[in-house]
Amino acid sequence: MANPSLLILAGDGIGPEVMGQVTRIIDWYGANRDMAFDVEHDLVGGAAYDKHGTPLHDDTMAKALAADAVLLGAVGGPKYDDLDFSVKPERGLLRLRKEMDLFSNLRPAQCFDALADFSSLKKDIVAGLDIMIVRELTSGVYFGEPRGIFKEGNERVGINTQRYTESEIDRVARSAFELARRRGNKVCSMEKANVMESGILWREVVQKVHDTDYPDVELTHMYADNGAMQLVRAPKQFDVILTDNLFGDILSDCAAMLTGSLGMLPSASLGAPNVDGRPKALYEPVHGSAPDIAGQGKANPIACILSFAMALRYSFDQGDEATRLEQAVEKVLADGARTADLMGEEGGTPISTTEMGDAILAALDASL
Ligand code: NAD
Repeated sequence: MANPSLLILAGDGIGPEVMGQVTRIIDWYGANRDMAFDVEHDLVGGAAYDKHGTPLHDDTMAKALAADAVLLGAVGGPKYDDLDFSVKPERGLLRLRKEMDLFSNLRPAQCFDALADFSSLKKDIVAGLDIMIVRELTSGVYFGEPRGIFKEGNERVGINTQRYTESEIDRVARSAFELARRRGNKVCSMEKANVMESGILWREVVQKVHDTDYPDVELTHMYADNGAMQLVRAPKQFDVILTDNLFGDILSDCAAMLTGSLGMLPSASLGAPNVDGRPKALYEPVHGSAPDIAGQGKANPIACILSFAMALRYSFDQGDEATRLEQAVEKVLADGARTADLMGEEGGTPISTTEMGDAILAALDASL
């Protein structure tokens, strides 16, 4: 059987630096766990613009559609700020999401005990936190028509439309229920069915998908504003939160901050399963290209490394190996390894991007 294929798009700024550590970990799995991947590297964002005049070349898009999973670093930077909107680095990422039809965005909020002091909430509220937000990514108010700024009488009116079809809700609900079965088996669906018709339909469809195909998963519904309150009051009550594009944008950023640094946060964006059951998938850290520290060896590679752990779990059905990698990260943090972004008030000497990679590889070795 052919090895599973990975397309690596390291991108701009700290993207190549953090992805360099992921590549070492991929090699470790090949050498130590009999898990070889066929890895190909290509350009995205500003790096692709510099070479091809476009932030995503058609050939790269075709490779992404053919790959079993895509790993992306980060795109963007001040050098590209004045480019026309159509060729800005972010357009490369948006094109990938759109053409791969990645409708389900997974944002975990996991608090490693060693970093619980970083949260803006009290330690006992966040220590051990492990929740997953599933955000619908390709529809809703960011895409609905009509949209625009129009003239109405003698003033202007700005319009966006929240629009969801039953099938759009159905498929993202399935993705959340499938995920819950691999975790704590609980889904809380959030909308505003009290004031929005799209919310009423959302609630109905989610309930129907549940009753028909996932009755074993515990399902609750919550209004999204209450959900925001509950996230900061008692976040550990949740396992999987399922929500739409707009509410998911806000709730996932809120949940992310429960856990401290941007340098720690992975994400996955999944599409429909292929014939072999693997979903189209793009894995990337939540952070951007961090131009303020790029090229200095200061970036924290953990968000990108945990994104690869998500790929192991959700694309390659290697949940045990994903856990091995997450536990290696946990051990390294418990032992006190800190990149600059993780330095608390107690001070100390930060380690470099590569040294963090070294420490995680050593912890992987020790796990054998
Ligand atoms: P950013 O995430 O790049 O950086 C915000 C702050 O967090 C900076 O101080 C940065 O140094 C720090 N930081 C981020 N990741 C870190 C890491 N791994 N280790 C240590 N510190 C880290 O966000 P920004 O500054 O708003 O944006 C910079 C550029 O990145 C912009 O061009 C923006 O458009 C782009 N961006 C890209 C993505 C993406 O590729 N998905 C996401 C957000 C922003």
